[in-house]
Amino acid sequence: MRQKDRISSIRLVGQNGAAIYIPAAVMREWKANQHGRTIIRVDPHHTSKRCSRCGYINHNLQLHHRTYKCPNCGYKADRDYNASLNILQKGLEVLQKPLSAGHVEYMREMASGGST
Ligand SMILES: [Zn+2]
Repeated sequence: MRQKDRISSIRLVGQNGAAIYIPAAVMREWKANQHGRTIIRVDPHHTSKRCSRCGYINHNLQLHHRTYKCPNCGYKADRDYNASLNILQKGLEVLQKPLSAGHVEYMREMASGGST
């Protein structure tokens, strides 16, 4: 098994010590179904470089920049939090639902370690 495959897999060990690897995507689908949730796959293109407030694409953002700063509207947020809002927006677009203040608050709570 290649290293990349192992990273995206979940390892289960049986009583006889034999290990099996279940793709993480399969495990996520199973867990989501168990809890009545839906998984929506979105195109990850520009989710890190796009401003979640105004949509501007900041091509100057580098991987080591941990804070997203929008040169267009001045929005500033943790890079991963901004990307999570973009991913949420893309998922909501698939569902044809608008991003609401409730969604933003939920993501803020999740980013701060909340359990809602
Ligand atoms: Zn912006």
